[in-house]
Amino acid sequence: MSAPVGLKPFNIVVRGSVEKEFKSAAKEAFPKETFAYLLGHSFADRGIIEDLYFPQDVGQFCTTDTVYVQPRWLREAKQYARSIELAVIGEIHSHPYTYFSGAESIIRAGRILSESDFDRKPFGINGLCVVVERKSGQLVSSCRYYPPIRPVKLKLEKD
Ligand SMILES: [Zn+2]
Repeated sequence: MSAPVGLKPFNIVVRGSVEKEFKSAAKEAFPKETFAYLLGHSFADRGIIEDLYFPQDVGQFCTTDTVYVQPRWLREAKQYARSIELAVIGEIHSHPYTYFSGAESIIRAGRILSESDFDRKPFGINGLCVVVERKSGQLVSSCRYYPPIRPVKLKLEKD
């Protein structure tokens, strides 16, 4: 099977302590979600993530299953990115799971975007960090990055 035309690999580089920093924030926010913008440089075939921007009041707009993204956050992120000569190239958020039997399988197999994540206006790289509570209460985290999402316009045609 060949890939549909135009679907070449998208390369993502995560620099320095960016991932570590998000994982720490995601564990701190547990059992609520948290959210940050990815800052760096992006091109047609790759994105280089250099830094993060957490909205100052992000905690006030996160629940255990939703981030209520405020329109002004993106403006603030762009302003901050410019000040350090980077661009906003995407976003990352967490999916927290309090302990349940079998929860650990989510660490690798559960780093998936929800339908509402897909339905948000996509503009760049989408990072997802799961935070899973072990039976002992210890929190473990794991991140995955998705390339810019191509919007789909669906038309169901009857025969
Ligand atoms: Zn989500």
